Amino acid sequence: MATVLVLITTADGAPDKVALQALALGSQLAAGGAVHALVLGDDAVAAGLGAWGATNVHLARHPALDVPAPDAAARILDDLAGSLGAQFVVGPGTEEGNTILARSAARAGLPFAANCVSVTAGSPVAVTRSRWGGSLLEEAVINADRAVLTVAAHVIEAVESGGSASVTPFTPQLDDADLAVRVVGRVPAPAGGVSLTDAKVVVAGGRGAGSAEGFAPIVELASLLGAAVGCSRAVTIAGWRPHTEQVGQTGTKIAPDLYIAAGISGATQHLAGTKGAKRILAINKDPEAPIMTAADYAVIGDLAEVLPAISAEIRRRRGA
Ligand SMILES: Cc1cc2nc3c(=O)[nH]c(=O)nc-3n(C[C@H](O)[C@H](O)[C@H](O)COP(=O)(O)OP(=O)(O)OC[C@H]3O[C@@H](n4cnc5c(N)ncnc54)[C@H](O)[C@@H]3O)c2cc1C
Repeated sequence: MATVLVLITTADGAPDKVALQALALGSQLAAGGAVHALVLGDDAVAAGLGAWGATNVHLARHPALDVPAPDAAARILDDLAGSLGAQFVVGPGTEEGNTILARSAARAGLPFAANCVSVTAGSPVAVTRSRWGGSLLEEAVINADRAVLTVAAHVIEAVESGGSASVTPFTPQLDDADLAVRVVGRVPAPAGGVSLTDAKVVVAGGRGAGSAEGFAPIVELASLLGAAVGCSRAVTIAGWRPHTEQVGQTGTKIAPDLYIAAGISGATQHLAGTKGAKRILAINKDPEAPIMTAADYAVIGDLAEVLPAISAEIRRRRGA
């Protein structure tokens, strides 16, 4: 039996799906012990967690928690884990969950295992972690009195137990240093266009496009095909296209029928976002570019010539 604390992150008044999966893992690790859940400022979410396996719910209420503040969340989590004497602190393997648990572990001087796909209780705790966008599985052990870890998305199912749990509201101790990092504004994704996540065809460009203006043939072909525009991180870092269009490990994971990658080398972190694509057409000047190993079709050439030629042929066939 173990005492487990699970961080439940929320969105739009509901618990994150991956947080409920973390709660299911927490219940397994507790093996009959207490399964504590921490909720930051969301009363409705706190009230429902007994049904998902929590035995005790801790509801932190503080005006500063109206917006995400990862250091504040980490301090609350760390303080609560200490007072409960938790042997496991578990969170969702999302950007938010990993951000908070990494900070929480650092505060406590503990190791942190992110994105675990399996966890075996014991001394030490053994974990398998998903790394490099899922292209590597790492086996590791956690030598610590408290194992701080996140569970990778969708490796365990959330379990609706139908139970109930007491909810204990509390006001956490926070000071200015805990609020140094806060969300101060949000920029909505541009409306309209085809969603990258759902698109049947994605036409993407990389550094090979050369500039923001160099994306014109990519946007043109996407428009002709009713496709979404994507890009590599080199492009978003250069400021040529918005981050909402980035494909990859730290961008969007896509699953189109056809992915056209122009002027993209095919770095591991980029390909991590394209594993769901059924067919990949690479357009690249370099026949040795790594993307060729993932591509079903390839055109070796300058995208500034190849893409307009494809668009012209589509127009010709359509009689336009
Ligand atoms: C933690 C981490 C996370 C990351 N996450 C992501 C991510 O989510 N998504 C992502 O994309 N990257 C990500 N990266 C960056 C990644 O490692 C690469 O640096 C990036 O993908 C390279 O972008 P690129 O292919 O556009 O540029 P490059 O690697 O510079 O490749 C440019 C390609 O264009 C070709 N080319 C040049 N000119 C032309 C032309 N005129 N016509 C045709 N081809 C041409 C070249 O032959 C080359 O293959 C991440 C990196 C790290 C460390």
